[in-house]
Amino acid sequence: MKVLVVNAGSSSLKCQLIESDGKMSLMKCLAERVGNEDASMSVSFFPDFEKVKYNVAGLTVAGCLKKLLDIMTDDPESPISGLGQIEAVGNRIVAGGEYFTRATLIDEKAREDLAKCEELAPLHNPAADECIDTLREMLPTTPQVAVFDTAFHQTMPPKAYMYPLPMRYYDEYKIRRYGAHGTSHRYAAQQAANLLGRPVRDLGLITCHLGNGGSIAAVNHGKSVDTTMGFTPLEGLMMGTRSGSIDPAIITYIMRREGISFDEMDAILNRESGIRGVSGTSGDMRDVLDAAAEGDERANLAIEMYVYRIQKAIGSYYAAMTRTDAVVMTAGIGENSAELRERIFAGLAHMGMILDKDRNDFTGALGANRIISIDDSPIRICVVTTDEEMRIARETDALVGRM
Ligand code: AMP
Repeated sequence: MKVLVVNAGSSSLKCQLIESDGKMSLMKCLAERVGNEDASMSVSFFPDFEKVKYNVAGLTVAGCLKKLLDIMTDDPESPISGLGQIEAVGNRIVAGGEYFTRATLIDEKAREDLAKCEELAPLHNPAADECIDTLREMLPTTPQVAVFDTAFHQTMPPKAYMYPLPMRYYDEYKIRRYGAHGTSHRYAAQQAANLLGRPVRDLGLITCHLGNGGSIAAVNHGKSVDTTMGFTPLEGLMMGTRSGSIDPAIITYIMRREGISFDEMDAILNRESGIRGVSGTSGDMRDVLDAAAEGDERANLAIEMYVYRIQKAIGSYYAAMTRTDAVVMTAGIGENSAELRERIFAGLAHMGMILDKDRNDFTGALGANRIISIDDSPIRICVVTTDEEMRIARETDALVGRM
């Protein structure tokens, strides 16, 4: 099935056309800095994926999607000649609130519920909804599916998802933990079960999605029972540019001291903090590792804090579950940085998570899922490669195939 996967952000659009049966990508598109003067969109097609850049200044995210559909029908390199050849659309949705517990076919009722979720992710959800509406106009008979970052975590018990605030904030505004990266945590848990040769329902797993954004989940018997991201993706681990968890009183203190607005504070916490804020170099882990290797002390501090916070989160989920069979590492940093994996697990051996140095360093065939702990490590450590668009395509295929 040819599935168009649409991943709309506040100022970006990532799309792929995926042949879900062969798990093959046929088209890749990335629009960045959408809404700015220098907004651009690159599109490339199978088999060479040679990127062609387009100017998309003045377009919205949904406008970029419209332009992409035009390119896909006009370009002789395109694997399709008409929009009718797109058999399904899979939309990544950041926040599904309490309305959505699984991937859902978008009918009238689902579209209404999606509108109600917009305020939960005001940067992301409205752009995704606009894309859905654009596609409904342009591909009126093609089934569309919404795949949610939050859905996998809807199995958390109230003691994990409630905040110790006056109850009315939950009753009136649904302020609670929703988590994120759900598609990735679900996939990582399933892949780890395959590596361990046991059904996921028999396992206790701690899944670590460590990319630009980062979150850890406790996955008991295949179900998320807790996760570090919260009401928004700002809570939890230290991230590329996000602070993660800090004393909430710091926020009101800084706002009073500097007389800054809510939006300014929001930007400090989301875009100027985390690895970027501490290192002063960059929010990109590779840059910071390079700077630390050259003796940059702030870069080194940022890495030490990053590692320490991950160690504490893994330890807390070890405590939260009745058994832990494996810790699973995925996403940009989790998959690719043997150095950071080594530093993280150096502090966790006493809990029975013992890394094998050679297995950790061996990269082998790129993208290979593998176990990197020693043979008799009481808790296994796994590396799993993630491909969000591919997983969205497969979930879409499964749902539409059942129709
Ligand atoms: P993601 O959001 O999953 O694409 O992950 C992006 C993050 O992964 C960035 O901070 C990258 O610097 C980091 N990353 C990718 N490859 C490596 C690597 N080989 N070593 C360290 N960090 C990496």
